[in-house]
Amino acid sequence: METNRHYRRVLVKLSGEALMGSGGGVFDARFMDGLVEELRAVHAAGVELALVVGGGNIYRGGLGGNAGLARTRGDHMGMLATVINSLAIQNALEATGLTAVVQSAIPMPQVADTFLLRTALEALQRGQILVFAAGTGNPYFTTDTAASLRAIEIGADLLLKGTKVDGVYSADPRLHRDATRHDRLTFDQVLQRKLQVMDLTAISLCQANHLPIMVFSILERGALTAIMRGEQRGTLIEEAL
Ligand code: UDP
Repeated sequence: METNRHYRRVLVKLSGEALMGSGGGVFDARFMDGLVEELRAVHAAGVELALVVGGGNIYRGGLGGNAGLARTRGDHMGMLATVINSLAIQNALEATGLTAVVQSAIPMPQVADTFLLRTALEALQRGQILVFAAGTGNPYFTTDTAASLRAIEIGADLLLKGTKVDGVYSADPRLHRDATRHDRLTFDQVLQRKLQVMDLTAISLCQANHLPIMVFSILERGALTAIMRGEQRGTLIEEAL
């Protein structure tokens, strides 16, 4: 389906688990190569590109599963995991000759630049790819919320949420063979039906700030570039249908 949309600046959210690809290690070289190729094509098309990556392939804080760890400590560890992933993506992008800047919400100047909106915007305008690391810098949040926040701050036209599934379905397509994919949804539908797209804070933030979300498969080669050409792949979430 053609949506006739043209994007000037976008933010792509990747889960940490995506970086594992199908392998069992922290990073999957084949997945990383494919990802970089895709990002390169988007960048070459003149789209200003920012990324937020999660930390789930290394460490997730939050509730449960972290026996003995205080919530805030677990969350700090999770945010540090996102910095590791951001550096890996920066390295992979720079290996192809692109310039990628990592800005961390938690200052660690020997490792990455510190998040500052003004310099982030300057980097984007110079054609550099920005990788926002360390989530929001605060415990009790997720990188989905960090992605919404940063996308709104930089004035992105679209937040692209890369998942292992090619959109939002009426039920889990791995368990229900008759599940159907939604081409479009409103924020209200996502919230009312409690669809597992992003956490509620992230969705509400996008809704309040009129930022559409496209949920797409990070495993499908060419999906990102097709979306940038105005084709719909996955599920578009916006204010009204
Ligand atoms: N985190 C946090 N604040 C943030 C973003 C992330 O405390 O603003 C922590 C939280 O513990 C989370 C972990 O970092 O579980 C990794 O992020 P996330 O779970 O969002 O990663 P993903 O599931 O996308 O790989």
